[in-house]
Amino acid sequence: MLTSPTLIWFREDFRLADNAALSAAARDGSPVLCIIILEPEPPQGAAHDWWRDGAIRALDAALQEKGGRLHVLRGRAEDLVPALAKVCKASAVHWNRRYDPAGRAIDTAIKTQLKSHGTEAHSFPGALLHEPWTIRTQADKPFQVFTPFWRAARKLGDPRPPLLTPDTLTFAPFPETDQFHCLYPEEFNLLPISPDWAGGFRETWEPGEKAAHEHLALFAEDTLRGYSEERDYPAAEACSRLSPYLRFGHVTPAQLWHAAMQADASAQNKDKFLAELGWREFAWSILFEQANVATRSLRPEFDALPWRTDPKGLKAWQSGRTGYPLVDAGMRELWHTGWMHNRVRMVVASFLVKHLLLDWRKGERWFADTLVDHDPASNPMNWQWNAGTGVDAAPFFRIMNPILQSEKFDTEGEYIRRWVPELRRVPASMIHAPWAADQAALKACGVTLGRDYPHPVINHKLARERALSVWKNFRGN
Ligand SMILES: Cc1cc2nc3c(=O)[nH]c(=O)nc-3n(C[C@H](O)[C@H](O)[C@H](O)COP(=O)(O)OP(=O)(O)OC[C@H]3O[C@@H](n4cnc5c(N)ncnc54)[C@H](O)[C@@H]3O)c2cc1C
Repeated sequence: MLTSPTLIWFREDFRLADNAALSAAARDGSPVLCIIILEPEPPQGAAHDWWRDGAIRALDAALQEKGGRLHVLRGRAEDLVPALAKVCKASAVHWNRRYDPAGRAIDTAIKTQLKSHGTEAHSFPGALLHEPWTIRTQADKPFQVFTPFWRAARKLGDPRPPLLTPDTLTFAPFPETDQFHCLYPEEFNLLPISPDWAGGFRETWEPGEKAAHEHLALFAEDTLRGYSEERDYPAAEACSRLSPYLRFGHVTPAQLWHAAMQADASAQNKDKFLAELGWREFAWSILFEQANVATRSLRPEFDALPWRTDPKGLKAWQSGRTGYPLVDAGMRELWHTGWMHNRVRMVVASFLVKHLLLDWRKGERWFADTLVDHDPASNPMNWQWNAGTGVDAAPFFRIMNPILQSEKFDTEGEYIRRWVPELRRVPASMIHAPWAADQAALKACGVTLGRDYPHPVINHKLARERALSVWKNFRGN
């Protein structure tokens, strides 16, 4: 039995199962000292912080069941990890990899420091199906188009089988020294206080590995069977809703992959679901190469597009008061629960960029602050895809019609009524475009436009023409 501890540095991998860093230490038999660091960079969104608080508490509880603790520190990892390793005489530090360029740079610097002090540093795969550098074109370049990317990824075969939670773990005590301050939960400062806007989050979500697996089991046993047909219908609750659990590493994509493969569902449903995990991989493969994916258009010529400035329009979009019921339902779902259905994310993103002609980065930032699943790779990649500024993106001139999208994907208006209660008595025939309805009939349903529900912030036809004309002039430059 080894006696000097292994420091397990948890990051966004709040789990005990399929945790390669932890399992390797358990195999060695060395006592573990489990830490997490609230790093100053990158600044995280408020919704992310809400989830992070729950994730820390859930992981601490899971470690307590095993006889240990999660020690929470605040500061720069470059300072804390090597110093703590030294003080507790760690034989090694383990972590699961992060893949963003800034995080990788920090980890490389820490590895060098640790090694120079004679401490081993081991990093392990975890958050992706395959390490990003293993999926490259024949010319050894990153893929720019999803389909060949995914074909190449699938050729690598199934991801490794997930690791089980270690049966036994022994824990090292946190060193008794004033050099480090372990935070008590009330010192995390991650929860909103005044006002406490997280009531809807609490009703909707339970962070943690246990909740993630309950969610996954239900999805694999039931929802997956209708996934490919129904996933686009926001009222149907037909997608996995696993995105925040993946984001915080309560589950790994390898666990999802194997659960889906073993499920009693058709190959079509399984393939569709795995391909969505593929989009997540693709997004990470882009961020792995390009640090500025959230701040620069991947097709740089788009940074010269004459975006409008329209604080009122932006506010109407953010608060779900554009007068377009499907857009408003999505934005209110986001505000209330920290999550929005994928189809509706596409509609609201297209609306901001094409109808309001506002810079996609404004939408990206809003999502970054309000999504519990905000992901630094998937969020900008999807915004750029919808804006037409990204790699393998929908062209700018493809403008989603929010009325047709609403009629097609929320035909009965069920989703709209759930999130826009002032329209709850409006029948399906009028709910998608209330301004076009007979106003007396609308009034009979309790809605006077401009009083109970807003007039549209912009006429759809005019908005479309304006976007196309800006696009044509822009291309002509
Ligand atoms: C403008 C915009 C912004 C987005 N921002 C994020 C984000 O910050 N974080 C995030 O996880 N997803 C983001 N997405 C992708 C997608 O909307 C969510 O992953 C999905 O809605 C999550 O729901 P789910 O878990 O039920 O997905 P499912 O349909 O059950 O899919 C399973 C998993 O596959 C991944 N996935 C699915 N679709 C995509 C996609 N288009 N791109 C990347 N990964 C995908 C997710 O990890 C998801 O949990 C965004 C999409 C758009 C259009």
